[in-house]
Order: sequence, then C-alpha cells, then structure tokens
Amino acid sequence: MRLFFAEIEIGGTSCVCRVFTFFFQRAKYYRPLRRSFIMPDLLVIKRCFLSCLLLLLQTSSSQQDEQSQLLLVSFDGFRWDYVNRVHTPNFHALMDEGVLVEQVENTYITKTYPNHYTLVTGLHAETHGIVANEMYDPIHNRSFSMEGPEVYDAWWWEEAVPLWVTNQKAGRKSGAAMWPGSDVAIGGTYPTHYLRYNASMPFETRVETLINWFSGPEAISFGVLYWEEPDESGHNLGPESPLMDLIIADIDKKLGFLRGKLQTAGLYDKVNLIVTSDHGMTQLSHDKIIELDTYVSRDLYTWVDKSPVVGILPKDGKLEEVYNSLKNANPNMVVYKKEEIPDHFHYRHNVRIMPLIIEVKEGWTVMQDRNGSFMLGNHGYDNSLPSMHPVFVARGPTFRRRYTKASMRSVDLYPLMCSILGLKPLPNNGSLSSVQDLLVNTSNPKPVVSPVPGEPSYAWAVGSVLGAALVIGFLFIFVQQVTQRQHLPLHQSDSEMTQPLL
Ligand SMILES: [Zn+2]
Repeated sequence: MRLFFAEIEIGGTSCVCRVFTFFFQRAKYYRPLRRSFIMPDLLVIKRCFLSCLLLLLQTSSSQQDEQSQLLLVSFDGFRWDYVNRVHTPNFHALMDEGVLVEQVENTYITKTYPNHYTLVTGLHAETHGIVANEMYDPIHNRSFSMEGPEVYDAWWWEEAVPLWVTNQKAGRKSGAAMWPGSDVAIGGTYPTHYLRYNASMPFETRVETLINWFSGPEAISFGVLYWEEPDESGHNLGPESPLMDLIIADIDKKLGFLRGKLQTAGLYDKVNLIVTSDHGMTQLSHDKIIELDTYVSRDLYTWVDKSPVVGILPKDGKLEEVYNSLKNANPNMVVYKKEEIPDHFHYRHNVRIMPLIIEVKEGWTVMQDRNGSFMLGNHGYDNSLPSMHPVFVARGPTFRRRYTKASMRSVDLYPLMCSILGLKPLPNNGSLSSVQDLLVNTSNPKPVVSPVPGEPSYAWAVGSVLGAALVIGFLFIFVQQVTQRQHLPLHQSDSEMTQPLL
C-alpha cells in the first residue's frame, strides 16, 4: 500500500490503473477475507478516495499552471542588421537574455501578407494561398488587395489554419493585435480576443491590450502583435537614409515599452517573447526603373501585384506573345512561365500564382511607365538575398540564454512555437529539429495537445478518468458496507468454520 500511495503522488494515468487493480484484487479475494482484515482496508479505501480527490484538484490546477505563454511580435520590415546600425539597447538586452538568429530566410515572395501568414502556419505561400499582397483568384474570379475590404473574406485565408485557431481548438486562448488575417473568421473562428485592424491605434495601446489578455485567470497562452514600422518609413525614405536611424531607435524604444509592461505585470520571466519581422528592405534608385510598356502592349495582359515580383495574366491566347516579348527584353529582369519558376522558391503550385511572373534584380523597380508611384525602398525580391531577411531575437523560460544561431527558415518558426505551446503542429513546411537548439532542455518536449476539433484535452481526459475512479470508489464502499451488515453472522460463522480441524 505504501507503494500504491507513492505512485499516486506522482500522478498521471498510471495511478488510476492502480486504483482499478486494487479494487479488482479486493473484489477477487473478498469472500475468503476475514472481518479483522477487511476493516483496515476500508480505511485505506477511504484514504485512496481522498487522495484521488486531492490529485484530481491538483492535476486540474497544475495543467493550467503549466501552460506555456508565447508572444510573437512583428515589426514590419525590420531588417536583420538594423540592430547594429544604431544604439538599440532593448534588442541587445533580448540577445543577452535569450537567442539571436542572424539570418532568417523568409518565404518567397518577400512581401508582408505572404510572410506573416507563413510565420503562423509554417507553410510556403504556394501552400497557404496568400501568395501576394495583391492577388487574383481565377476560380472565384475575384481580386484581393491587402488594402481592400476583401481581406475580411475568409475563403482567401482558408487554404491554411493559423496557429491561434489550432491553439483554441486545443482548449487554449489566443489574442491578436492587428496581425494580418487575425481579424478574419478563418474557418469560422476568430482569435479569442482580437483587435480589428486600425492603423492609427498606437503601439502602446496594442501592447497594453495584449498585457491584459496575458494576465489573470482567463489568460491567453498565445498572442500576436503587429506594428507597421519601420516598413512604412523604409519605403518612403529608403533604408539607407540617415533618417532611418531615428525610426530604428524609435522601434527599440517601443520594444523597451513592451519589456517594461511585461515586467510590471510580472510576465517578463513567464511569457516567451519572440521579436521578428516579415522581411527586410533594400534601397531603390530612379536610375533603376524598367518600363514594361517599352516591351509589350498593356492590352495583352492584366497586371497583378506590384514590383519587384509582378504577376502577369495574359489575355486569352496571348501567353506566348507576352512571354516572348519579355523573355530577353532587359538584363535586369527575368520572366518565368509558371512551370519554370525555380523549385527553391516553392512558388508554383497555386492557382493564384499567375501564368507568368516577372522578377527584377535587387534594387530595380518594374513599372508599366514612369507615371506610376515610385518608392525609395522596397522588398519582395529573392528570399536568398540578405537584404530581404528579417530580425529574429527571442527570450523567455523555454529559450536558451546568450545563444546565437547562424540561420533558420521562417517556416521553422511554426513547429518551434507549437513545441513551446505544447501543441501538435498541423502539416507544415518547417522542421522542429532545425531550430530545437534554440530551446532549453530540447530532450524534454512538453506534452502534446491534440488540435482535433472537439477532442478533449489532456487535463480533461485525466480528470474524467479520475472522476470515474471516484464514483467506482463510492459504489465499492457502499456495497462493501451493506454486504458486511447483511453477512456479519455468516462471517463470524465462517470464521469459526475456517479454523483448521485439529
Ligand atoms: Zn512593405
């Protein structure tokens, strides 16, 4: 019995098995037992019952306490090397307290919407379906612009399931502050808490809202936070402008505000914090503009998306003519038929990828003519270019300290976050083993929680089994006591009869 109680203190399913084993053994040998032996066992059973009740309560509360919390932050367009360009004490504090990944290869095309959806799905754009900021879907015959009301049409997003939905299907809570797609009912599900996109809402308000969601008995376990800078200034000023130093320093101050709020709320050493971005930024020049009208009539095609990777939808029967007009037109531009797009871009297998795509070399801009809007900075280029890579720093209870990793792929972040949250990842293009070295105690992953809709959680299952054991315990004690009262004389008689005949 000492062994029995020792194991019940360890907890888990094995103790429940032992409860059943114990009852089975007692039932099997009940008849021959003498009253003098039964009475102490009743006390033991009552102790078992009380222990089970205590364990049930402890299991329920510890399951809640053990939930890891994770906050994923994106500063749009924060290039990986900005942290060394000006004094950024808050970014460097995170590096000292956690991990730095020097080069993150994001997904092609290196635009905002495709990459933000990659971060929360672990999928390349061709698989999650948000293939560009501006898209055309030939099946639905509908167009998508990240600045249009169609972003709220969930079907655009439903080729994938973002992490906040998976988190909630596992019985957890999520919170989203303006992350692209997070104010859309993807698969009919919004984040538990979310802010509808409003570019004028200050960063500080977004942070304070998230801190509230991370606090209290109904705390979220997973949060996402989006901020529009330094992307906007990078486009307008160009990343090489000295004025960008002020913008980067301001982002560092904003990160300091977030750190301070987490500390004040007592969350700083509890919440795992990942600060990253969707892409970098490169400098453009008025001297590096390609005017497509020079090579092909705009009557022959529809222009989809913007420089530096442009989808071209030729008019019926005009594909070869458009392709041949552009193929060798300019040494700073390449045109691919869809089936020719290089494998390593993972950018071919989706109807929203146009029959032809134009890609220009780094620093170049493609326009129909010079009357179009021109920006001094841009992104979207080949994802192997360092200038397209985002920053990545992280800290928290599950991250190693003062650890620098040379490189990772942004698709690997999704399985890493699932590991931190104890969730079973959905099929994805990432690899946990490629990034597991970022975490402490990589040999001891957290319990996996099934993301299947409606499937009970681990805590629920343990609680249910223990509850059933308690009911059986009650019934057993009740039957035992009734039986004893009915057969007490027989027991006494048996007792005498079972004396050996001498
Ligand atoms: Zn941008």
